[in-house]
Amino acid sequence: MSQQSKFANITRRRFMHGAAAGMVAGNSLAQVASAQPAPTEGRKIGYALVGLGNLVIREILPALKRTKHSRAVALVSGDPAKAKKLASEYDIDPATGVYNYENYDTLRDNPDVDVIYIALPNGMHAEYTVRGAQAGKHILCEKPMANTVAECRQMIEACNEANKKLMIAYRLRYEPVTNAAIQMVRDEVMGTPRFIQADAGFNLPASPPNLPWRLNKKLAGGGAMLDIGIYALNATRYLAGEEPIEVNAMSHTPPNDPRFTEVEDAITWQMKFPGGVLANCSTSYSHGGNRFRVTGPDGYIESEPFLSYSHLSLRKVIKGKGEPVEVQQVNHFAAEFDHMSQCVMQDKEPLTPGEEGLKDLKVIEAIYEAIETRKTVKIA
Ligand code: NAD
Repeated sequence: MSQQSKFANITRRRFMHGAAAGMVAGNSLAQVASAQPAPTEGRKIGYALVGLGNLVIREILPALKRTKHSRAVALVSGDPAKAKKLASEYDIDPATGVYNYENYDTLRDNPDVDVIYIALPNGMHAEYTVRGAQAGKHILCEKPMANTVAECRQMIEACNEANKKLMIAYRLRYEPVTNAAIQMVRDEVMGTPRFIQADAGFNLPASPPNLPWRLNKKLAGGGAMLDIGIYALNATRYLAGEEPIEVNAMSHTPPNDPRFTEVEDAITWQMKFPGGVLANCSTSYSHGGNRFRVTGPDGYIESEPFLSYSHLSLRKVIKGKGEPVEVQQVNHFAAEFDHMSQCVMQDKEPLTPGEEGLKDLKVIEAIYEAIETRKTVKIA
């Protein structure tokens, strides 16, 4: 049986037959959970990293070296040679710390692993989150949380049933420039915020390494919207500080571009928030976009770049006077992992739990519906 159909069976069993849901491979969830020693303050929380692609190799493994409370203890990959090489470079025992997608569930027997970090293609997040929670581990899952609202709900339910934490890796929420911008909006430095513009895009090369899954509908869930547009969406939500109630959207995909046989290229969308803020956003795989601006009667604050891995920039223009806002820069990934580790150590809810990922997916589904129907879609 394929892993995908195994996952479908597991989720069907778990979500349709609640009484049986407490059993995982012969063990009750309580037994699985009690097999894990409670992490204590002072020891570093151990992570299993799943999917050794660009993000993990270039950013996460080096960032984990700079954390206070987190360390890599296991790697999960379909490429044993790559995994063993990386394990030896990052002080992970290649004999006990290297797993593949078939023996992934045996992570449950590794007491050094507290949290599973999932950096697989989007369409695999749900399966590996559910299986990871069933293996008795907390989950840190990359954005977008999943391809659909239904998958997000399955992930939340699986982690709740296993009594494990679920955090979505919205790294910008853990770095100071984003937080300074949020605070300036809450302080209404521009007067009552009325309008948010946010753009997030990049020119996706028509060759590897990005082609294998980003342009595949099943693995990516969609095009630029799920991959990079989600940053513009998430920014409008955290800047507005509330959830949008209506959305309009338009899409364009160049007909002869060989990249786009399955997923869309560009989307523009507008949102209305209950407090009166209007937002205008864009995303694309054909051109760059890395900025937001929040405008009110007295002026605006803006950030460009707002989503890069480093050197984020923030400035304000109030009553015609413009000045930069100097904010300390940190390693986003180190801050994000240490937040998750502290949540595990102190039994706290992460700032960006599964519900946060679900909220983005609800709006994304509304955006696709607005494109399809050419009508304004209300978000429940
Ligand atoms: P990538 O293509 O570089 O890596 C994906 C990994 O998954 C590869 O090692 C690949 O071998 C593995 N994989 C396993 N099964 C696969 C399959 N069936 N098809 C294709 N690959 C398979 O991608 P990436 O850029 O590292 O992105 C991984 C995840 O991280 C995505 O969800 C992406 O949205 C997210 N991401 C987040 C950030 C961020 O700043 N938070 C940045 C980049 C990517």
